[in-house]
Amino acid sequence: MDFDEFREFGHASIEFIINYLSGIRERDVLPSVAPYTVINQLPKEIPEKPEHWREVLKDLEGIILPGLTHWQSPYFNAFYPSSSSAGSIVGELLIAGIGVLGFSWICSPACTELEVVVMDWLAKFLKLPEHFQHASDGPGGGVIQGSASEAVLVAVLAAREQAVISCKETHPELSESEVRGKLIAYSSDQSNSCIEKAGVLAAMPIKLLPADDDLILRGNTLRKAIEDDVAAGLIPVICIATLGTTGTCAYDDIDSLADVCQALNVWLHVDAAYAGGGFALEECTDLRRGLDRVDSLNFNLHKFMLVNFDCSAMWLRDANKVVDSFNVDRIYLKHKHEGQSQIPDFRHWQIPLGRRFRALKVWITFRTLGAEGLRSHVRKHIALAQQFEAFVRNDSRFEMVAPQALGLVCFRPRGDNEHTAQLLQRLMERKKIYMVKAEHAGRQFLRFAVCGMDAKPSDIEFAWTEIETQLTALLAEKSLPARKPSNVSELTQHFQMHLASDSGTHEKSQ
Ligand code: PLP
Repeated sequence: MDFDEFREFGHASIEFIINYLSGIRERDVLPSVAPYTVINQLPKEIPEKPEHWREVLKDLEGIILPGLTHWQSPYFNAFYPSSSSAGSIVGELLIAGIGVLGFSWICSPACTELEVVVMDWLAKFLKLPEHFQHASDGPGGGVIQGSASEAVLVAVLAAREQAVISCKETHPELSESEVRGKLIAYSSDQSNSCIEKAGVLAAMPIKLLPADDDLILRGNTLRKAIEDDVAAGLIPVICIATLGTTGTCAYDDIDSLADVCQALNVWLHVDAAYAGGGFALEECTDLRRGLDRVDSLNFNLHKFMLVNFDCSAMWLRDANKVVDSFNVDRIYLKHKHEGQSQIPDFRHWQIPLGRRFRALKVWITFRTLGAEGLRSHVRKHIALAQQFEAFVRNDSRFEMVAPQALGLVCFRPRGDNEHTAQLLQRLMERKKIYMVKAEHAGRQFLRFAVCGMDAKPSDIEFAWTEIETQLTALLAEKSLPARKPSNVSELTQHFQMHLASDSGTHEKSQ
């Protein structure tokens, strides 16, 4: 493909993306395809002769799009958002166009240095303790990983290696394999599946401790577990706390967990994959309590900072602990500026050797939206979740299951679990909105997460109308009385006005 054709292909592809995104509300959020639909429509081998890009775009439209779940649709209300923005999409294109790898500074100095800059920008924007910045005097700093799962695994592996080093010093009578066989880690039973998986990959059991009734893990539970394990001869290594659990966006009590971890020399990692976005807001100051005492934390920019997947920020209080744990050298990887302050060789901070130039899309996103735009995006999701919560509370057939937190509302139709399951099944069959259910203490509930590139109050009203009319239909089928709430549009208008008057007034009003 020559550059003229490349230009034409590129322009057509941007048009394609704009058409797709601008018309996303017209598509059912869930696809209507049976398994193998895509496989059966595609050839079994690479085409022998090159094909024209127009043919490829035609098949993208005709074969691939009908088989997609539309994550950027405001009617995608499952899991947590995987957000995007025009700046970030173009950033991703530029990353591919420039095509550099940045595993060490010399591989592409600007790649490393831009990452240092944007990670410090982000640390300041999120009001994290200063020691997490590369520019601070200490050994802290931030790095971009692909996913929260990778960040957690890096923390678990580094904590494990640090524990082995220190145990070999304090217990010289134990062999290394004896030490490794005694290691143990902790998290809550509300933590994301990636935490348990990190334990599997790190060959170190992670105990999932029971959260309290309010779904929060507190220091007293951790202390008791650690004391029991130490008495049984085990070696505690790390506790992974969560700010913003996947089920209900509950916040573990970092302060009391830090008390225990500091006293017992246990690494404390915070998984703030979703809720980290809230750190930026003055009105969410409480969320940041205790972060000055954690060893590492992660936050997914692809969830709440309008940077497209994949992009997960991780900060370390003492990056040397990771670098020393993972440092494997080869002569071809050496360069003369190694070890110089503020120009890290990020290959030591991560699992793969090669690394993408993700800092570029972060930089472009931050510059094109500004701190103001990022904050108002988080605030908009909170306001839209509050709108949804108002709908739930206004309809006596439903009940809230947990407090609304950031952009998440957990609710259920009153009645047994079957009722919840049947409502969700109807919604999934209609494909107009997409939610998932979760369960706590034997009670199933629905999670409504505000998602999409540009969700609006009218989208929340659309989703709610879909939910409540399907409940009405379900109740009618079961010959149960249905009460239809009347003032849904009035509530939407109220939230529309609230959002219109938003623009930065929150901080002043605190
Ligand atoms: N942690 C929490 C709290 C999550 O909600 C999620 C995913 O939603 C993850 C971790 C996993 O994120 P990733 O897909 O970036 O590994």
